[in-house]
Amino acid sequence: MTKYIFVTGGVVSSVGKGIAAASIGTILKSRQISVAAQKLDPYLNVDPGTMSPLQHGEVFVTQDGAETDLDLGNYERFIGVDLTAESNVTSGQIYSAVIAKERRGDFLGGTIQVVPHVTNEIKQRFKQLAEKSQAEVIIAEIGGTVGDIEGQPFLEAIRQMHSDVGQENVLYVHVTFLPYLNATQEVKTKPTQHSVNELRRIGIRPDVIICRSDYPISEGIRSKISLFCDVDLEAVIPLPTVPTIYEVPLVLEEAGLGKIVVSKLGIKAHKPDLRQWQKLVNYLKTPSELINVVLVGKYVELRDAYFSVREALRHAALYHNRELNLFWVDSENLERDGSEAYQQLNTAQGIVVPGGFGLRGIEGMIKAATYARENKIPYLGLCLGLQVMVIEFARHVFKSNLPNSSEFDTSTPYPVIDLLPEQKTMENKGGSMRLGNYPCKLIEGTRAAKAYGENLIYERHRHRFEFNNKFRAELEEAGLVCSGLSPDSKLVELCELADHPWMVSCQFHPEFTSRPNQPNPLFRDFISVAKDVLREGDQPPLPLSP
Ligand code: GLN
Repeated sequence: MTKYIFVTGGVVSSVGKGIAAASIGTILKSRQISVAAQKLDPYLNVDPGTMSPLQHGEVFVTQDGAETDLDLGNYERFIGVDLTAESNVTSGQIYSAVIAKERRGDFLGGTIQVVPHVTNEIKQRFKQLAEKSQAEVIIAEIGGTVGDIEGQPFLEAIRQMHSDVGQENVLYVHVTFLPYLNATQEVKTKPTQHSVNELRRIGIRPDVIICRSDYPISEGIRSKISLFCDVDLEAVIPLPTVPTIYEVPLVLEEAGLGKIVVSKLGIKAHKPDLRQWQKLVNYLKTPSELINVVLVGKYVELRDAYFSVREALRHAALYHNRELNLFWVDSENLERDGSEAYQQLNTAQGIVVPGGFGLRGIEGMIKAATYARENKIPYLGLCLGLQVMVIEFARHVFKSNLPNSSEFDTSTPYPVIDLLPEQKTMENKGGSMRLGNYPCKLIEGTRAAKAYGENLIYERHRHRFEFNNKFRAELEEAGLVCSGLSPDSKLVELCELADHPWMVSCQFHPEFTSRPNQPNPLFRDFISVAKDVLREGDQPPLPLSP
């Protein structure tokens, strides 16, 4: 029988409920229990693919091409699994499915209601994932906080699961936040009590409360929460803010959460083995030489928009025993010559141009690519970053400012990036891109082939526009190397410059497959070259005295 862990949030959002859910996965996996994770988002969009990254943060793409919440990235990184479309459910999907069934006549004669029709559809999604993944435990996180109007059907569905699958198979974890009052210098529990009351009102009794706080949580505070919220003292788990998210599984394990979960759900498990994870955290916390990377993006106001890119850079830096010193540069600010943002490039040992959509900020990214090419600074282009690199190189080769992508200039005489003819008639924006895993063959002797050490790779995509083959011969002649191609050689997947230490770009998103203990090869090699770049004013490391 599959076991279910339902994770809800209380008090405020953005306290790391997703990291907590992912970390429960890590500690179960460390006991050799198979785990799958699911995020249920109460908003009405069918998926986050059409939402602005500035509102929603990164859109994480699964191998099977679902555009999902960024928490899925954390589940993949923490649990070490590749998830599928079943792992992200939204109200939009649920209501569309129910209404489609109604139109088909599946409920003829009936009145369609939130309970039971919508809740049944939600419960169906838990079971679908259980079947598809065959995991022993499903961790399902409900987005938002208890009390949100949109979240009600999801909470009702998880309440019903209690009697549907038996209480011994269900565990409710509530993640709350304990605010700190400076005046009285104390951590307050009242908001947590209210939020647990709200859960109880709808019939959910939490088994575990994870208490997030920026301050230490005393035994007294834990007892108080245990008493007022009617949760075992040992199941009130403090989770103070830690220097790195990767430490959270260790903190939760140390507080006894693994034991509680296994015993409450009656799972036979091996002893936990978190040695690898501990080693990773030790490395992360050991001070090491910095590596300066500048990320030139258009959504830098919200760092969550580049969550996986930042993590992939961290994994790669860690691999080379470096600490990532990441500077966020708004590409719009780069458009003005001599700007402060432009000065920032002078500190870069490596430049990253990540994915994005729309014209705003593109010229600034092109400037960053010119800077990287002319100054021989390592450059990693991710999706839009490849398109920017190609536009920049074409402007240089054709000695013209006109080369562009038809996404940004529909009348350019040099559409070096363009839609494929079959895409030109597409009407819907949602879910209509080239999404998910596609094969890519690597060309021998290139930097890309060296990084992967293989001749066929699979990486995840999310884009509409492609390298325009009409310009390929001329650009190749001038030193652009198309180092990765689709198996039929029609689509350019990777580009690099022959006459540059490491200027490599890909049409896919390698950041999604990077893992803390296994950096993606492109990120790994990018940092490897960047770490040896010396910038103005830098001192080479002094030789150790004998
Ligand atoms: N806007 C570009 C395209 O649609 C790049 C997309 C991206 O960076 N994910 O092809």
